[in-house]
Amino acid sequence: MHEMALMGEIVHLIEQDARSKEMKQVKKVELLVGTLSNVLPDALQFAFDVYKVQADNCLTADAELVIHMERARAICAICGKEYEPATKITQCPTCLLPSGNIVAGETFRILAYEGSLTT
Ligand SMILES: [Zn+2]
Repeated sequence: MHEMALMGEIVHLIEQDARSKEMKQVKKVELLVGTLSNVLPDALQFAFDVYKVQADNCLTADAELVIHMERARAICAICGKEYEPATKITQCPTCLLPSGNIVAGETFRILAYEGSLTT
């Protein structure tokens, strides 16, 4: 379950950034997760709940996690059709060839976080 490792890193990064801005509390963390990114939202939520209350993460103890899903999109290199692929091997629904270039859905990143200068 690589979500544990990913989330550990995210909480650590946000914690560091919040400290450098002299924040006293992190209220909200927003992530953008592509449907083809191989990251499971439920596992992320679980990992977040585990990490946010760890002793060295006191800034994030009451933070809320918001996960925004990015829908997958592919464009066929042959006919130019745009469609939503279900997997990373993308078959164009018109040409029936694996000719799709994925243009969205593989994202995994921190969108934003909200902190507060008071507790
Ligand atoms: Zn096509």
